[in-house]
Amino acid sequence: MNEKTDHNSNVDPEEIAKFEALAHRWWDRDSEFKPLHDMNPLRLDYIERFTPMAGMKILDVGCGGGILSEGMARAGATVTAIDMGEAPLSVAKLHLLESQLEVEYRQIPVEALAEEQPNQYDIITCMEMLEHVPDPSSTIQACSDLVKPEGHLFFSTINRNLKSYMMAIIGAEYVLNLLPKGTHEHDKFIKPAEMEQWTRHANLALDDLTGMHYNPLTMVYSLGSNVDVNYFAHARPLQD
Ligand code: SAH
Repeated sequence: MNEKTDHNSNVDPEEIAKFEALAHRWWDRDSEFKPLHDMNPLRLDYIERFTPMAGMKILDVGCGGGILSEGMARAGATVTAIDMGEAPLSVAKLHLLESQLEVEYRQIPVEALAEEQPNQYDIITCMEMLEHVPDPSSTIQACSDLVKPEGHLFFSTINRNLKSYMMAIIGAEYVLNLLPKGTHEHDKFIKPAEMEQWTRHANLALDDLTGMHYNPLTMVYSLGSNVDVNYFAHARPLQD
């Protein structure tokens, strides 16, 4: 297979393995996944700032156990969600029995889905995932191929600088034990300027960056303008 058709080349098996190992605890709010549960209402609010979700066809890329996917289904969207981890997808499917929601889960690289279903989705979400892939620009390009010309794309990731190293790695993994040690690698974090460049190359206009802040004393997440550590991005296809 050449580079173009080998879509698995943008999947790091070590990264997938990290999430496979923990997947059974995905829906335990007191587990390693507590941060994803706690930040979920904020990301649903962030999406709703730009577009309603009800009635929309949404693709959730790197969905894991489905915390965000279910939130969007609950908001009335028709959700397809993909990941390359088997265990997270099994957990996600099982959880539908409990939540009584509908989500279509598939194990497929986003680049392969982009060839199968170009311009099909009103909304693409790709949250807390880009910092785990070998080539985030390829993921962003595939998301751009999948979205409808009038659609919306939402990304979230972590900035790369000394402060984010201190907060997101030393603080979260070593001091507060919010995440297992080794969850994140600092050199894979993504600067807003890189996000801007990669979205532009994918024919997208990045029109908002919003920071997400964690207060370790109150254990509450909030949104704000400072994008030094965690941040959300909203982009739309450029109109020719
Ligand atoms: N987006 C979800 C889960 C984030 S955890 C949420 O925010 O709630 C990161 C997820 O990315 C894991 O489930 C992991 O399996 C997945 N992942 C990592 N690399 C991937 C890749 N190359 N393709 C698809 N999924 C990937």
